[in-house]
Amino acid sequence: MEIEKLVRPNILALKAYSSARDEYSSTGEAVLLDANENPYKSAVNRYPDPYQREVKSKLAEIKSVKPSQIFLGNGSDEAIDLIFRIFCEPGKDNIVITDPTYGMYEVSAGINNIEIIKAPLNTDFSLDPGAVLTAINENTKVVFLCSPNNPSGNLLDEAAIEKIADSFNGILVVDEAYIDFAGTASFAKNLDKYKQLIVLQTFSKAWGMAGVRLGMAFANQEIISLFNKVKPPYNINELTQQYALQQLSNPELIRKNIVQIIAERDKLKRELESLPSVDMVFPSDSNFLLVRFSNAKTLFDQLVEKKIIVRDRSKVRFGDNCLRITVGTPEENNLLIDTLKALQ
Ligand SMILES: *Cc1c(COP(=O)(O)O)cnc(C)c1O
Repeated sequence: MEIEKLVRPNILALKAYSSARDEYSSTGEAVLLDANENPYKSAVNRYPDPYQREVKSKLAEIKSVKPSQIFLGNGSDEAIDLIFRIFCEPGKDNIVITDPTYGMYEVSAGINNIEIIKAPLNTDFSLDPGAVLTAINENTKVVFLCSPNNPSGNLLDEAAIEKIADSFNGILVVDEAYIDFAGTASFAKNLDKYKQLIVLQTFSKAWGMAGVRLGMAFANQEIISLFNKVKPPYNINELTQQYALQQLSNPELIRKNIVQIIAERDKLKRELESLPSVDMVFPSDSNFLLVRFSNAKTLFDQLVEKKIIVRDRSKVRFGDNCLRITVGTPEENNLLIDTLKALQ
């Protein structure tokens, strides 16, 4: 597979911006008079490392990938946008997404003037590789799969993903924003096998850092180099890099947190299933539950009145009468259940 053939010609031809810290990147002491910074020392008077080397080196150990296989973005949303700008020719190329799935792929496609083709999931939200492969045409540059899928919460079957990876000669993105709640290995273990693979993860969910905006893409070096060429030079600020380093030094704490959220998810699911207004709770490998109620619209409004805010997903495909509920603290979950009981 030749990645080059998938890249937009203007990006291939582009000469990347060379920042001051590209041209002199030694970490030792030096008199830096090359970047027009303010010389008076504070935590942030210098530009940050444009390649976030320290963060990537810690992250590489935790994620079992090489530092050269990591891109860091201002949230996964930056990585998603860059994928469009690197690979998709506006007004010509298209992408294939599943239906339903995370809304940002469609928005980003719209911003970049890229057509989207939707391949329905099965009614139980499992992946139908045949539907995706049928949807692909000669102008399809990227297929986006989300596993565990938002808003349904379920992991996609690995063999089904591989079936797509085996026969699609474009970029395959597997968005694993919720993988830490799933108890399975990342699809990134297949990076050697699939040169066209990009796995997205984020610090926004399990890592509890939605406020700092930090997302990861794992891919082979050739693709990572393209990300680096197109990204703004200093896309991850110094404060975010420092905060991430600090959090990465204590992965045990995050792991405990994840175990608790999973236990609460399973408890919340059982409690919801015992309520008469609940038709079903879809199986979840994430930190949220998609719940089918007999009267979602009414319940949604009543919950808002009680200042409990969930997400109305009743308009998405197969999401009839469904609300998406994020797993909260034990107190928040109990309040939700008590409120729903009182509303029966
Ligand atoms: C929440 C979420 C993200 C995370 O986006 P960030 O920009 O990293 O906060 C990515 N993909 C999916 C499917 C999500 O639900």
